[in-house]
Amino acid sequence: MIYGPLTPDVPLGPFEGSPITVWSTQSKQAKLHATSSCSYLRSARTTGREVQLDASVVARMCPQCGAYGSWARPGTGLAVFLDTLTGLGLLYELDSFRDADEDAFSDEEVRQAATLLHRPAPGAPADTAAQEAEEDEDNEDAAWEELQEARRVREAVFREWRGALASMHRAHQQLGLFPWLRSWAEAALQLKAERLRAVQVQARLLVTEDALLGAAAAAAMPEPDVPADDAAFAPLGAPAEVKKQLLSLWRRWQRTVEDSWDPPREQGYLVHHLADGMGSRRKGRDQMLERVRAVLAEWETRAQSAAGGQYGERVLFARLPHDAATERDSRRSLLDRLDEWELGVLAVYMVDAAWQPQSVITVRVSEPVAARLLTQHHGLSYSEMEAAGTEPTPETAAKPSPVAELPFEPGVFDDTPVRGRRPVTRTHLRALRAAMRDAEQLYVVFSVDAGLEVVALSVLDQRCAAGWQGVIIAGASDLPDALFDTRPAIPGQDAPEDGEIWPERIYDPHHEAFGASLGVAQGERLLVRLCAGRQDVGHALRSLALARGMADLRELETAGYDDRGLARRPFASAVWHGLLAMEQLDLHPFEPDTDTGWPRGTGLPLGVLAQVQVYTSDAAGQYQGRAHSPGCAHRRPEHGVGRDDDLVTLEELMGSKDFDPCSKCGGYAIRRLNQEQVAYYRAAHRLHHLAQQVHAVARKGVADGSDLAAGLEEFTSLDRARAEAWFPSWEQARQWREIVDRLRRALPMPGSA
Ligand SMILES: [Zn+2]
Ligand SMILES: [Zn+2]
Repeated sequence: MIYGPLTPDVPLGPFEGSPITVWSTQSKQAKLHATSSCSYLRSARTTGREVQLDASVVARMCPQCGAYGSWARPGTGLAVFLDTLTGLGLLYELDSFRDADEDAFSDEEVRQAATLLHRPAPGAPADTAAQEAEEDEDNEDAAWEELQEARRVREAVFREWRGALASMHRAHQQLGLFPWLRSWAEAALQLKAERLRAVQVQARLLVTEDALLGAAAAAAMPEPDVPADDAAFAPLGAPAEVKKQLLSLWRRWQRTVEDSWDPPREQGYLVHHLADGMGSRRKGRDQMLERVRAVLAEWETRAQSAAGGQYGERVLFARLPHDAATERDSRRSLLDRLDEWELGVLAVYMVDAAWQPQSVITVRVSEPVAARLLTQHHGLSYSEMEAAGTEPTPETAAKPSPVAELPFEPGVFDDTPVRGRRPVTRTHLRALRAAMRDAEQLYVVFSVDAGLEVVALSVLDQRCAAGWQGVIIAGASDLPDALFDTRPAIPGQDAPEDGEIWPERIYDPHHEAFGASLGVAQGERLLVRLCAGRQDVGHALRSLALARGMADLRELETAGYDDRGLARRPFASAVWHGLLAMEQLDLHPFEPDTDTGWPRGTGLPLGVLAQVQVYTSDAAGQYQGRAHSPGCAHRRPEHGVGRDDDLVTLEELMGSKDFDPCSKCGGYAIRRLNQEQVAYYRAAHRLHHLAQQVHAVARKGVADGSDLAAGLEEFTSLDRARAEAWFPSWEQARQWREIVDRLRRALPMPGSA
């Protein structure tokens, strides 16, 4: 079955004439495909060509591609438009919940089920005494079966009602993006509204106001006094234990009753929980059950009598959040998660529903129900709009604010020249998220206030909500392949054959790869290896490239959670290893040259390393506990930098006396070093190593230091270009030369001994 194929009657609005690539055989009538690999494409002799999207092109689309094909690059406006319509999208919604399907129950069947459900005598066999005649038992069984069938009818009716409500919500949400579709969709919406009303009438029959009021009253009941001293409960133990068990039963009863659309008396079976684990022949068991039934009956009476009072009515409004029914992949909706009671309340008391610009359900409820809806947590959130005339009728609510509800046109995303870009809104982002699988990524955005920035979609969403105005220049996935597919292999950093991801740490400063593990090149290599075979390397590299341009990586912290409760991350966590070196620097060469320290420092200037960014949870010992690196497992389950982290320079960290690092992670991670920084780090360590040897030689008074002198030679002639690259000030270059000179002088010259 093919759902929601695009049909020629669908108005394409501003997308009419958009260029798309189609694949087909030569024949004039040949079907057009979105891809040359479509399974409906029989002939191998196909050619691709660009055409302009219009009704005649749509009419020739292959049904498979018309429903599920990608006619445009993901993340473009056209792709979002077509994807929102086809498959299980808007066209499918408009086509569903319009008529009663063959499984639907007739009004008569529903009435019969309602009669059974609302019959006053309890139908559960558990509630009758055991010594009934067998004949009676058969009747009981038949009645029980009937009741079960009636419950199934109720389930089915509510399932359809819920589905119809969610579908209506979804359809209007999607239409809100593409206003040119509205008049075309009107007839279908009319049919859907009629069906929704018809099913609501049925649903209303299956739940009674008394039951809903009883549940509301039960929810408001305080914890009762329980007869813990009653001798009938002795089998449960001492009075303290009896009290505990009775209160536990109370809580179970209250929870069950308050969430249910059945009257409290239907929960009588709960008494058996008290006899859990007690043999059926246990002495005193029957008396105990009889007594606890009386206790439960008392609770029921209290709930039901509270429900029987005369109450005023209040009008409340429930707004369906935008994402209440847009969980497209799962086809779940917020409405599926409402409990029976809340569904019953909506069905029985709903007096109006408006769908634009936001879906708002109006209920007129009696006081106790209103009090409960307003004070307790429910699936939907309810409010009372005091002022008269603010009731969102479809007419008054149809006027969208100009900025918040810009229609969805080409040019919001990357399918027009930058000059033609249109400001992005939350609604656009919502549509993008619903249509595009990896919409969560980094975007280059531009605003007049802040210029060019790189932000995660979740952050952009937050900004739009706060009134930010700007355009999207490009998403990570819009970056051209040409820049990424031809990345040269990194020389000297080829992956070892053994499949080891993490390079072995090198301690010898004279080794050619010393310090390389701190550099950006190594970060990129590591990222590729971490992603290999598991994640989209291309996306990871694009994210890395975009994030490299950010001045402060803490701004990469994402905001909010998706509908599965997972944080909205713009990239795989491996990207953090591309950005940060989680290992610590060996800073001995830069520590003061004093005789007391061991190993003795060399007092070298920090040079280009001074400004290296350091990310840590606590740079100055301000918070309780040790400081952790963004890669530390002690901190949070996922790697990465957050807004709560400290960002300091390496120089500042070295000056921080109260920095108290975790012994597992070293307390911080650094922004990966560029080539010059790695070169200077290596040079400083080689010089430091020589210095240690010079000190040793001088101490022992060994005769010949000529080897060391040769080694120092490399550092004496520091050429101008290198000095400028390594040292931001002339003063630091001079410091370096002085240290080298001092070391040379400390060496015993041949024959001087
Ligand atoms: Zn096809
Ligand atoms: Zn740690």
